[in-house]
Amino acid sequence: MKNAYQETMFLLKKYHISANKSLGQNFLIHDEVIHQTVESATISKDDLIIEIGPGLGILTQELLERAKKVIAIELDNRMVAILQDRFSLYQNFELIAQDVLKVNLKEIVEREKRENGIKEVKVVANLPYYITTPIIMKLLEENLAIESITVMVQREVAQRLVAHPSEKLAGAITYSVQYYCTTKQIIDVPKESFLPAPEVESAVIQLTLRKEPPVQIQNKENFFKLIKVSFMQRRKTFLNGVSNSGLVSKQTLKEILTELNIPETIRGENLTLEQFAQIANRI
Ligand code: SAM
Repeated sequence: MKNAYQETMFLLKKYHISANKSLGQNFLIHDEVIHQTVESATISKDDLIIEIGPGLGILTQELLERAKKVIAIELDNRMVAILQDRFSLYQNFELIAQDVLKVNLKEIVEREKRENGIKEVKVVANLPYYITTPIIMKLLEENLAIESITVMVQREVAQRLVAHPSEKLAGAITYSVQYYCTTKQIIDVPKESFLPAPEVESAVIQLTLRKEPPVQIQNKENFFKLIKVSFMQRRKTFLNGVSNSGLVSKQTLKEILTELNIPETIRGENLTLEQFAQIANRI
């Protein structure tokens, strides 16, 4: 049996293709990383796995062996042709040849649960790095009935995604992710685990969706907007940054901070998720 590196070289040669950098194509060639990623997703025979960007199918093969069904979403038609060739004999494989950002995932998840006896839906992927954030936000904001998201991302992004609010590495996305999920870093992955090797280091992380949100918010839009604007002007105090944004007047925000016993000099990055929620609920 070929290892992942040999398999990748074989497929690239057989189909006369090379990786398309602008589509974020860095193929996984390290068997141990593939194994650990799939293992960490704890896949059962009742699960539907949604794979984003299957590429040549190196992860897909492992997923097909373990899950009830795999739905793979791939934009590059060259990869689509290879995947159709490779997995045509698998009854549990479905391929969607489309930009993942345009796919109606809600409809797919609901249909699979209703018609195919799927118990849990999990996302497993080595993501195209140029659209990591939009993909993760789509998965979270569309309120999909999914259990977990196990993904390879750029290490710097991983650190932000798994940081805790008010930690140094926290950014606006940290708070959004914490609202929807609990997070875990699975493994660090060196550049050499990919072909071609990307310029950045990588990591596999896991986001487990919460059944209940950790804070009560009255207006989701206000809450996320408040977080966003307070990180857009990171060097300013929370009070100045947010009142410059037009979301709320400086006077009102001052009163809210006083009421909540939060110092006027605080920076957004030092607020907890709970405090963001309390402030947003008063705007
Ligand atoms: N899963 C493969 C692996 O681990 O070797 C390939 C991963 S590669 C990092 C990312 C894959 O995402 C590529 O196959 C690329 O063509 C695909 N891709 C890029 N943009 C996409 C999009 N908007 N929608 C779906 N797939 C996309």
